[in-house]
Amino acid sequence: MDERPPGLSDDSWLAAGGRPAEPGDPLNAPIVPASNFLLDEGGAGISYSRGDSTATWTALESLLGGLESATAIAFASGMAAISSVFDLLPVGAHVALPADCYQGVAGVADDGAAAGRWAVERLATDDTAAWIAAAGRADLLWVESPSNPLLLVADLAAIGAADRRPGGLLVVDNTFATPLNQQPLDRGADIAVQSTTKFIGGHSDLLGGVATTRNPDLAARLDRNRTLRGATPGALESFLALRGARTLALRLERSQRTAGVLAERLSGHQAVEHVRYPGLPGDPGHELAAEQLGGFGSIVSFDVAGGGDAADDVCRRVRLIHHATSLGGVESTMERRAAIAGQKHLPPGLLRLSVGIEDPDDLWADLDRAL
Ligand code: PLP
Repeated sequence: MDERPPGLSDDSWLAAGGRPAEPGDPLNAPIVPASNFLLDEGGAGISYSRGDSTATWTALESLLGGLESATAIAFASGMAAISSVFDLLPVGAHVALPADCYQGVAGVADDGAAAGRWAVERLATDDTAAWIAAAGRADLLWVESPSNPLLLVADLAAIGAADRRPGGLLVVDNTFATPLNQQPLDRGADIAVQSTTKFIGGHSDLLGGVATTRNPDLAARLDRNRTLRGATPGALESFLALRGARTLALRLERSQRTAGVLAERLSGHQAVEHVRYPGLPGDPGHELAAEQLGGFGSIVSFDVAGGGDAADDVCRRVRLIHHATSLGGVESTMERRAAIAGQKHLPPGLLRLSVGIEDPDDLWADLDRAL
């Protein structure tokens, strides 16, 4: 099924979309490991995959685009998608970026600013008034919500409805929420991006990224950026992302339910100072998250009493949970984020836990023992 029929649920589309449709076709889009294709008589048609695509990545794009009623442009990584968005900006542009966001995005913004390509201002994710004010001067409003790793929630609808300067873009990094929990394009974003390395792939076995947009001009410019910068997704990675995405709804449902349980239990633990999870009723972003998100997600951040050393000890002691950096996999991973370059704004004892699909009680036993 190439096009999503009206009324089909996300769950059904994830199972059925992005598949070949002709009699005799394989049920799964094949891995097409080709750079070069035979030309037709006029020399037209698909000729070279960097510019013309392969059937594997167009199947992935059809599946992911269908989730957001948008055109999807698949990239080699989340950062490749993000860099291609920044490359849309004219020289001298003004960029508004969250104070808390994925450090790679801050790196792109800082390097571009140092090279004189644009100026950057940093805003608190949850300071809606500041974002609305910035909309009048920014060429790019870059929003990440919930944010990595503080899990702050931005008011997407309010920011999306703000008066923007002509040509100003609103772009939302939707990696933590996924399109199942949050639809930024419905709330006024021009482009949504995701690292498909995370929840879409779901098995920590690939790097990938995607940008989605309903604006044909932006889609064409992102496609061109991808071609000219060679930021194309690999054949195997596209296949794995497609295969992983089929179970996204099931994985997310399970892991975010468990995340809610763990967040609540962590809140009552004597070795934990503070839990950051928008699903907790006391969280500053809870009310907005309850309105904006279909689910609260499966990332929980918490501050260990005793600071950085105590948090490092916890990472050393876990057995079922992996001490590893990435997130969104079927296996739970945990990391002390302040140990990473460019994350000095974080409390030293903050651990970011990505909850997988393991048994909630086993995960709690592991955490409780380590704490
Ligand atoms: N956006 C967010 C929120 C992330 O957490 C990450 C990676 O951790 C990225 C973007 C970058 O994605 P990738 O590692 O696939 O380039």
